Order: sequence, then C-alpha cells, then structure tokens
Amino acid sequence: MTSVFQAHTDVAPLLSTTPTHADLAALYSATHWSLYDMPALLDSRVDIEWLAHMSHTRTIQRFGHTMQLFAPVYLSNLCYNQCTYCGFSMEHEYPRKTLSMAEFQLELGILHRHGFRHVLLLTGEAPGSVDADYIAEAIHVAKKTFDSVGVEVQPLSQPDYEMLIQAGADSLTLYQETYHKQTYLKHHLRGKKRRQDWRLTAVESGATAGFYRINLGALLGLYDWRYEALCLGYHLTQLQQRYQAVQFGVSFPRIQGMFGEYTVEYPVSDSDLVRLIATFRLVFPDISITLSTREPAQLRDHLIPLGITTMSAASKTNPGGYSGHDTETQFDISDERSVQCIDAVLRDNGYCPVYTDWS
Ligand code: SF4
Repeated sequence: MTSVFQAHTDVAPLLSTTPTHADLAALYSATHWSLYDMPALLDSRVDIEWLAHMSHTRTIQRFGHTMQLFAPVYLSNLCYNQCTYCGFSMEHEYPRKTLSMAEFQLELGILHRHGFRHVLLLTGEAPGSVDADYIAEAIHVAKKTFDSVGVEVQPLSQPDYEMLIQAGADSLTLYQETYHKQTYLKHHLRGKKRRQDWRLTAVESGATAGFYRINLGALLGLYDWRYEALCLGYHLTQLQQRYQAVQFGVSFPRIQGMFGEYTVEYPVSDSDLVRLIATFRLVFPDISITLSTREPAQLRDHLIPLGITTMSAASKTNPGGYSGHDTETQFDISDERSVQCIDAVLRDNGYCPVYTDWS
C-alpha cells in the first residue's frame, strides 16, 4: 500500500508558501479557512488573541461546553526499537514489565472507581512479546467494564486491526513522530520503527479495517513545528477525503523529560502551541483535539477554552502505575492533579466533563 501522504511532492507547495501582507489581512475577514490558509494562520504576524477567540467560538459551535476525559493505561514498557527521545527505548537498561491480565484488571478497577469509562491502552513496540493477540485480549477484558477502548500500540496489519476492532476497540491513535524523513531516520535508530512508510500506511490499514475514530499527530520538538503542522494538515485532508466514515482527531504532544538524557532541538513555546491548536480548529472545525497531561496544570487550564475537546487526567505512563508498581515510565507527567480536581476545574469554567459519550 502507498500512503496518501506523499512527502516532499504534494506538500511542497504548502511548505514553500510565504504569506504576503494581503494573505494575512484576508484571514481576518474570512468565514472559512482551508488547508491553503495554514501557512498564513501559522505565521507569527497573525494576532494570537484573534486566533484564540475564533478557535473558542468555533469549538463551542461544534462541541458545546463539553470535555471528554479519558485515562491512558500502559500495558508494557518492553520495546524493540531505539528512539532517541523515549524512556522505553531498547538501550535503556532496567527491568521491563508487561502486565498480566490480572494486573491489568487491577488497573482498570482503580480507573473505573475514579469514574473513567474511556481508556486508551498503550504499549511499547515489542511484536512477538506484546503482540496483537495479547492486545486483543486486553481490549476484550477492558470492554467488560469500559464503554470506549482505544489503542495506541505498534503499527499493525489490517487483519490485526480487524481483530482488535472485533475485540471491542473503537479508536486508533498513531502519531507519525515527525514527517521530516531525515529527522525521522536520525531519531529512530534501530528496529522496525525506522520504516517511516510502514508507520504512514498503518493509519490507512486501520481506517480500512474499520476504526471509527483515528487520532494523528507529530511529536513536537523533533523538527520545525510549522513544517510538522503543514504536513499533518495535508495528511489529515487526504485521509478525510479517502475515509469519509472515520472521525479524525489530532494531538500536539511536546517532548517531556524521560529516563536518560534528551535535549529538545526544536523547542515549541506555549504561544506556538496555542497557534497550532487554533489553526487546526479553524481549518478542521469538526475534528477532536486532545490535550495530555504532558502539559503543566496551569497551561492546561488556559487551553481548555481554546479548541480542546478531549483531555487525559490523572495519568500514569508506566505499566501498573495506578496500582503502585514502581516500573519505568515512558515520559514525565506535568499535570499530576487528581481526576476530581480536573473535574472541578472544568465545572468552574462552565464545562461539562464527559466520561462516556456512548455505551
Ligand atoms: S517511542 Fe515507541 S517505539 Fe520508540 S522506544 Fe518509545 S515506545 Fe518504543
């Protein structure tokens, strides 16, 4: 399969666009914005207050004052890839842990008592050890008590994705990390993840298999954030055209601290993040936008009205983390508040926390 995303060919006109003053001025009087407005919307000369206001208005029109809450559950920190920015990378020497189904059920029980009905299951990438059969079994277990079960696991084949859907999974999250080929190879040193084309086409295998919701994104900090945003916007447009039954969403994870050393080469500021969220909300008014606990509490509170529709809460990024296992994490959490605290913040700001929107 060839991906709908053809880097450096179809995206090139977007990447080479330098917005004129007239392009920027036209943004303010427009009522709809397209992919071809993205270079201008992402330009630092555009008033960020205007962007934030328009993004807020569009979000309320489409989603009302609601915020979906979910919890991530890490099943394993075993990984057969070497990625420069990740605490699970195979060269880090510490005891690896893969949850048994009994241990997994303990995690689920804790989250259920906290009120969650939507979980996202995550693993390192260790096919052969943490394979599609294991993930399907975990989904089957989670579906007994949770209304919505998503997966963020290694890229799989279409038949494997079909098995996960059959087990009860409804959403697939698969970040491309970076769309920039040379940067991709620089940060993915060993393992199957070096194959960028396999990761790109897996999104389409998931859509063809029948996932109802698919979340995309790039890991911010690996390369120029505007480049990533334009490629992500292009990729999303192509996917929306080809897979019209799928609800797509995006997230903008910024690299956080982890086991080992990593220096962010392309920092993304808080105002850059606001510009990204608002631009995607204006160009893609109906997509979900997820904000994770990677970001600090105060910033998360400020971002709530700007276009976010889905938040994780009280997250642990290690297998067994909710039940107290002292295992290694994938990355550091910044917002460590309880779900009750985040629930209260949302209500104080006039939002209705949503723990399940279907059952
Ligand atoms: S980013 Fe994913 S594939 Fe890479 S080391 Fe971490 S868990 Fe493994």
